[in-house]
Amino acid sequence: MKKTALVTGASRGIGRAAALALAKEGWRVVLNYFSSEGSAVAAVREILDAGGEAIAVQADVSDPGQVGILFAEAEKRFGPVELLVNNAGISQQKLLTDLSDEDWRRMMGVHLDGCFYCCRAALPAMIRKKAGKIINLSSIWGMVGGSCEVHYSAAKAGIIGLTKALAKEVGPSGIQVNCVAPGVIATEMNGQLSPEDLAALREETPLGRIGAPEDVAAAILFLASPAGDFITGQVLSPNGGFVI
Ligand code: NAP
Repeated sequence: MKKTALVTGASRGIGRAAALALAKEGWRVVLNYFSSEGSAVAAVREILDAGGEAIAVQADVSDPGQVGILFAEAEKRFGPVELLVNNAGISQQKLLTDLSDEDWRRMMGVHLDGCFYCCRAALPAMIRKKAGKIINLSSIWGMVGGSCEVHYSAAKAGIIGLTKALAKEVGPSGIQVNCVAPGVIATEMNGQLSPEDLAALREETPLGRIGAPEDVAAAILFLASPAGDFITGQVLSPNGGFVI
């Protein structure tokens, strides 16, 4: 019997790679997207063509009403969500003194509120079943802080706190909650980095390269698999040694 995974922000980058990897491992996958409908539909097509099961569902994870509709649609098509990957994210580089109230709210809204709304929507069915897994995407900047990314770093650090507290709360219900905190990964999120920036980052990374979305998907897949069944409240950081 196939199990159901829901990946937020699965139209591109890490979320897309995670959705494809999970489908390959036999999960039925709900790919959430916000604005990139074409890419989300193309990812679903790729999964279906390979013999898997997947649907794409549009929702802004920072809106609790839309998250409710996302989970209702997932459950209607594939049954209760057994694995939730809170991956949706945005980035912005600004000095703290230049951040507007709106910049701050949007960053917290997509990352931290979105993670909270999706966990709250997923948990009742997991608690009833006494089983389930939640994997939250943090970042190395949530672990060590990133200059000119104070709001992003604060949101990602908040996700680590949420993960640890929730792991204690729902562990007795048989549910694991973990974080994956990637280093620098080649996705559109880093599209603004110049070739010089990228060369400098490679230089600073002991393993000598920028990560690929598949490197992060592998960490997500590990935690989602039975091999990760005794792991909860942890932060797994695929970062090439950039942060040790
Ligand atoms: P990306 O390529 O920019 O993709 C972002 C994804 O999030 C897209 O699918 C986008 O959907 C979705 N999204 C954005 N706002 C959303 C919203 N309000 N509701 C639902 N979905 C929304 O980013 P990525 O690099 O793959 O990053 C994925 C996660 O990893 C993020 O949480 C990011 O912070 C984290 N991370 C990334 C890196 C890195 O170096 N790339 C490092 C550490 C952590 P649409 O395209 O449909 O709008």
